Amino acid sequence: MEEKEYCQLFSDAFQLNGLSGLLTAERVNQAVRFIDYLTEENQKYNLTAICDPISIVYKHFVDSLLASNLFSGNASVIDIGCGGGFPTVPLAIFRPDLHITAIDSTEKKIRFIDAASRIAGFSVTAISGRAEVLATSDMREKADIGTSRAVASLPILVELCLPFARLGGSLIAMKGPDLSRELKEAKNAIKILGGNIEDIQSASLRLPHGATEQRNLLVVRKISSTPLQYPRAFGQIKKKHL
Ligand code: SAH
Repeated sequence: MEEKEYCQLFSDAFQLNGLSGLLTAERVNQAVRFIDYLTEENQKYNLTAICDPISIVYKHFVDSLLASNLFSGNASVIDIGCGGGFPTVPLAIFRPDLHITAIDSTEKKIRFIDAASRIAGFSVTAISGRAEVLATSDMREKADIGTSRAVASLPILVELCLPFARLGGSLIAMKGPDLSRELKEAKNAIKILGGNIEDIQSASLRLPHGATEQRNLLVVRKISSTPLQYPRAFGQIKKKHL
């Protein structure tokens, strides 16, 4: 796709989803360079199942940015399980005030994010490792915001993510349309880990030709420190959530 077509695509997609305020020519240029590199590397190893430019812009970029107004200015953010770069890269490009650390257990994906940030010219710190291990390091309880998309069901996710949030900070989980069962199952874990459900916002991802998909954006506030025995080893987390 030509740069000019991309500009139109970003303009249409952002306008449709109330995100026009985030658009600048330079940011779109960075996003295009990222998408080109993602598409190229995705042919060598699996980074994303979504491959065509229109779907990447809507289902990765716009989708990742639906929660962008929940991220306070200049916040330090940790994206847990960033994979091919979502929501890390859209946030890094379109919210350059944020200080983003991306973690993933697959080293290849972290090397990709690192290279992509140099090629496209955005700023992130990319660290390879498992969340439940890194959460016991000096990264524990440091971030203003922990965030994650498409990594685990909520009862597991909160144990992987909440330990990274500082006291008074939060977890912003990007979730699909049916949250009620997951939420019920995660209530106990949230409490034990020091969290409190602050807000659940429903959002619509507006696609071309009138289609929409529903999302739930969950905000959990960290109201007390996470007890040191959490997170547990992944085998234990998976076997029995809190
Ligand atoms: N957030 C991205 C990727 C989702 S796929 C997106 O929305 O497109 C899930 C990613 O989480 C994979 O890249 C996987 O390697 C990573 N992951 C799964 N469990 C993890 C853990 N315990 N610690 C760190 N990364 C993990």
